[in-house]
Amino acid sequence: MRVRLLLLPLFAAPLAAQSVRDDVRAWREAREPQIVREYAEFLAIPNTKNDTAALRRNAVAIVGMLSKRGVSARLLENGAWPPAVYGELKSPGATRTIVVYAHYDGQPVDAAEWRGGAPFAAQLRESRGGEWVDIAIPERGRLNPEARIFARGAGDDKAPIVAILNTLDALAATHRKPTINVKFFFEGEEESGSAHLKQILEANRALLAADAWLFCDGPTHQSRELQVAFGGRGAMGVELTVYGPAKALHSGHYGNWAPNPGMLLADLVRSMRDVDGRILISGYYDDVVPPTAKELAAVRALPPVDSALRRELLLGGTEADNALLAERILYPALNMRGMRVGQVEGLAANAISTEAKASFDFRLVPKQTPARVQSMVEQHLKSTGWYVTHAAATDAERLAHRKVVRVTWGAGDEATRVSLDQPISQALTATLDEMLGKPVLRVPTLGGSLPTATIERTLGVPLVIFPIANHDDNQHAKDENLRLQNLWDGIEAYAAIMTRLDAHWPRTTP
Ligand SMILES: [Zn+2]
Repeated sequence: MRVRLLLLPLFAAPLAAQSVRDDVRAWREAREPQIVREYAEFLAIPNTKNDTAALRRNAVAIVGMLSKRGVSARLLENGAWPPAVYGELKSPGATRTIVVYAHYDGQPVDAAEWRGGAPFAAQLRESRGGEWVDIAIPERGRLNPEARIFARGAGDDKAPIVAILNTLDALAATHRKPTINVKFFFEGEEESGSAHLKQILEANRALLAADAWLFCDGPTHQSRELQVAFGGRGAMGVELTVYGPAKALHSGHYGNWAPNPGMLLADLVRSMRDVDGRILISGYYDDVVPPTAKELAAVRALPPVDSALRRELLLGGTEADNALLAERILYPALNMRGMRVGQVEGLAANAISTEAKASFDFRLVPKQTPARVQSMVEQHLKSTGWYVTHAAATDAERLAHRKVVRVTWGAGDEATRVSLDQPISQALTATLDEMLGKPVLRVPTLGGSLPTATIERTLGVPLVIFPIANHDDNQHAKDENLRLQNLWDGIEAYAAIMTRLDAHWPRTTP
């Protein structure tokens, strides 16, 4: 201990972002119960996606909380969708503007499944011997940073909203001013697929003008360290039906003669993807932008989680010679969601079925478009002897072709991935590096899909993802929660961003 103390640079002045962080931390440590109490009140407003009246109450409450902090705030609504909340904080002399995105709506709840039976009655709990025990919020004093506040929305995605409100309080109390203009956009429809997001953005293009968006949703790294993610994968689903005989046949009398749709489907599946995940469709990788050396270096620098995950998931090996999960996510994927033909076990019959079905999801990476993927897949099917139809096959079609497949495409979303060299990427990572005193984790892409593409494409603005919630927050499930230390880290990070992002913003475009 003594040796380590001696090695510390005792007389070096803290870096600017660290002194902001230290001031904000001292402010927070003096008022943790108040912060948690205000959060509990906000969480008490139900936010499930179909409760229109309650969603509006959330939006109105956010406008109130923003206004109280000197942010000019209002609702963007027309009655047809849950309102989005818009807020604006102008900083005199600032030349950069960012928009902070979060969403206040949440997934549905089944109250009976939740501990305590009341998903919106926010409850503080501590883990004692592996059990979560209710604790009262004290009048004053410090709280256990490992305690968690349980309620729908606690992690996904009211946490960033509350963290930012507290950042504004902390900056005012410590006499620090933001050096960038900050706009706020809090969506109320994310959990129902952001159906009107594009429309809202288009109608408010001028209002939302900015140099970059900070997309505050999702989890921090599994190692509990803060991470910045620079994109998400796109997604597109497809359903296939392969036809056999018009009625099920005895497999002894007709096997080796009547085509079996299950066998045909297996052959089709095998023609599209190998066991290591490589997609075998001709030209499939032509549009794919390979990860840059910098992106590969970033994923290799992440704290190792693969071995622990393999143990937890009982995986004796993973695809592509056990390549890293974070690296595999940089490439396109084809996943089988399900396959159905005939019956198994007790219901298995010695028969040739009439049809077989499979369901897939494609995960897309930058430059792939849903339209191009659709055309390549259909071309692949045709070139391997399939007759492709988009409706139920007619008798005439089945008679005329030996292999008939019906293809039904779902809506597709493109991927987004901002370069690590973009000004916003450089400014944000440098700010967080300065605050942390070490490099923040850089994740080139999240595996999942977020409404980031809608924002990027509609407004033509770069977007980076900066989550603050714990990865084990049970989002979308029962007993959703937020670990208090994650809230504290979020408040400090947003303070560093508001006061130091401009100082790290490159003055020339790379
Ligand atoms: Zn979310």
